[in-house]
Amino acid sequence: RATVEECLLSLLGRPMPPRSVHAVDQVSLSIGEGEVVGLVGESGCGKSTLGRIAAGLIVPDGGSALLDGRPVAELRSGRVEKRTTAVQMVFQDPFASLNPRMKVGEAIAEGPLAHGLWPAAERSERVAATLADVGLDPSYAARFPHQFSGGQRARIGIARALAMNPRVVVADEALAALDVSIQAQVLNTFMDLRARRGIAWLFISHDLGVVGHLADRVAIMYLGRIVEFGPAEAVFAAPAHPYTRGLIEAVPRLERRRFGFHPVRGEIPSPLSPPSGCHFHPRCPHAVRRCREEKPTPRQIDTGRMVACHFDLA
Ligand code: SF4
Ligand code: MG
Repeated sequence: RATVEECLLSLLGRPMPPRSVHAVDQVSLSIGEGEVVGLVGESGCGKSTLGRIAAGLIVPDGGSALLDGRPVAELRSGRVEKRTTAVQMVFQDPFASLNPRMKVGEAIAEGPLAHGLWPAAERSERVAATLADVGLDPSYAARFPHQFSGGQRARIGIARALAMNPRVVVADEALAALDVSIQAQVLNTFMDLRARRGIAWLFISHDLGVVGHLADRVAIMYLGRIVEFGPAEAVFAAPAHPYTRGLIEAVPRLERRRFGFHPVRGEIPSPLSPPSGCHFHPRCPHAVRRCREEKPTPRQIDTGRMVACHFDLA
């Protein structure tokens, strides 16, 4: 069951006017051509659900995900019938998404051949080029997934997405399973690809530090709602939502991250029975009665910046 009840995603379209963010639990998010949008929040906040909606793997109860103004996925009798290949997803655990009996070259060629994106005759050169794109030696095509390190498998996961010639890639915790030093290397590959290929990324992570290196704009999600959205630099320099502030303060405290992600006091409530009013009120140091009773309407605070809090806490 999706924790996101209403969802309006516009991929490569014009940015959503901030005024469109009004309906109950509505999530409104746009990604521009070649842009990296970071989607950050604790586990269970709905960011993976939102990522799957963006990739057309699920369709929300209300609203839609659009690519160039057209639906990413089409429904028939409640099931995803058709979805575009132009939006690809890179999953959390790269090893789980690779068939252990399939050579890496076959795994990369599978999608583009099935969708008629590659002429069969060009298969090996296309595989080689795709491997080179993610910083792997073309000879690796003949190897099996277990012969690779975690960082290499993450690159293979990215290569499989790139092989589909996507315009948007949704990466859900694509680096989370890796050591910090390997994370940095794969991160460099992401940045390099972004510069060369002009692909738009929706980069989902619980780690604000990682997202800060990569994103042009950042969306902070809490229990199914986007509580803050704006240019990454502006959000990091002057976070407007108390939850964003808590996340940013926690970034340098590596020891906390090692023991789990609790940068903000208190536990994250169940998304199935979220608190009344502002979902964040049980954990917010600024909460007053109004916060328990009334849901904050997202409002624009600056050009391209949105926050969902009753107060100006600057
Ligand atoms: Fe905190 Fe109230 Fe703002 Fe919610 S609306 S973030 S509880 S001050
Ligand atoms: Mg997740």
